[in-house]
Amino acid sequence: FIYLFNSNITLGKNGAPVAENFRLEQSTIADTVQAGQVRVKTLYLSVDPYMRCRMNEDTGSDYLRPWQLSEVADGGGIGVVEESKHDNLAKGDFVTSFTWPWQTAAILDGDVLQKLVPQLVNGRLSYFLGAAGITGLTALLGIREKGHVATGANQTMVVSGAAGACGSLAGQIGRLEGCSRVVGIAGTDEKCSILVQEMGFDAAINYKKEDVAKQLRELCPGGVDVYFDNVGGDISDMVISQMNQNSHIILCGQISQYNKDVPYPPPLPPDIEKIQKERNITRERFLVLNYMDKQEASVLQLCQWIQEGKLKVRETMVEGLGNIGAAFQSMMNGGNIGKQIVSVSK
Ligand code: NAP
Repeated sequence: FIYLFNSNITLGKNGAPVAENFRLEQSTIADTVQAGQVRVKTLYLSVDPYMRCRMNEDTGSDYLRPWQLSEVADGGGIGVVEESKHDNLAKGDFVTSFTWPWQTAAILDGDVLQKLVPQLVNGRLSYFLGAAGITGLTALLGIREKGHVATGANQTMVVSGAAGACGSLAGQIGRLEGCSRVVGIAGTDEKCSILVQEMGFDAAINYKKEDVAKQLRELCPGGVDVYFDNVGGDISDMVISQMNQNSHIILCGQISQYNKDVPYPPPLPPDIEKIQKERNITRERFLVLNYMDKQEASVLQLCQWIQEGKLKVRETMVEGLGNIGAAFQSMMNGGNIGKQIVSVSK
C-alpha cells in the first residue's frame, strides 16, 4: 500500500506550495480489522485551498489542524468498503469522510464515515467531493445565509474565482435563487467562455488580461448587489468599489492571500473599508461547517438540480495518488476548471 507524507521543502508561512512538499512512500496497513472498523479502498481524494493553511504550524483557524511533518496528510475522500466489522456498513458500500488519509487503502473507524447513495448523482461518485459535497454546500448555503438573494429583486451578482469548484456553482445557484444578472471573474479566456456558454453566466471577465474595474462598470450598469468572494485582494477591492448601498458580500474565501502570513479574513484597505461602511455593505465571515444542520436537505437540493440539468458540473481529474501534490499545486495556480479531484483507484 502507498502512503503520502508531507514535508515542508520551500514552504514557510509565506510561500507557494509545490508538489515536492509531499512525498510518496510504500507501507502496509494492519492485517486485521477490529470491531467498529472497516477496511476501505480509496477511490477519490479532494485537494482544496484550505489545505494551504494546514501546511502552517499555525493554521490561522481553530477548526483546522495543521498537517504534521512526516505524517500522512488527509482531507475529503471517497472509497469503497472491502471488509467491515461495523454494524451499519457492509462490503461494497461507498463511504466518505472529511478526514480521509491520503492512502490507497486504509483501516478506518466506521463511525466517522458517511454512507453515500450513488444514484443521487447519477453514479458520478466524485460529485460528493464537489457539487454534491462541501463545495456545493458552500455555494448554496453561502448564498442562502449571507447573500440576501430574493426572486424578483433584480439583483446583480458578481462571483470571483468563478470557474473554480465553488465559484462555478455559486454563479449558477445565484441565478436559480433569483439573481437577474450574474457576472464571473476568472483567470483564462477558456474559463470565461465556459462560464458564459455552459454555465449560464451573463458575462465573464479575464482578470489576467482585462481591465476589471472598467469591465465591471460596463457589465454591471446597475452596480453590484451581491458579491460571492472567493479570492480577496485587488479583485475584491475593485468589485467592492462598485457595490450598491445595502448590498452583500458572501465572504467565502480569500485565496489570493493564502500564501501570505496575514490573519483571516484579511482586513480591507482603508479606502475600501470606508466604502464598505458608508454604503452599509455586509461582509460577515461565512464558514460552511457552521451550517451542517442544513447539510442533508441542501445536498438533496443540489442533487435534484444536478439530475434536472439545472446545475452544470465540471471536474478536473488527475489520476494516481502519486500526482496529488502536483494536483494541489496546479489547483492553487488556477490549473483546474471546476472541482479538482484525484482519482486514486477504479
Ligand atoms: P477552486 O476555486 O476550485 O480553485 C482555486 C482557484 O482560485 C484557481 O482555480 C484559480 O483560478 C483561483 N486563484 C488562485 N490564485 C488566485 C489569485 N491570486 N487571484 C485570483 N484567483 C486565484 O477552489 P474551491 O475549492 O472552489 O475554493 C474557492 C474558495 O472557496 C477558496 O477561497 C476557499 O478557501 C473557499 N472555501 C470556503 C469555504 C467556506 O466554508 N467558507 C468552503 C470551501 C471553500 P483562476 O484561474 O481564476 O485564477
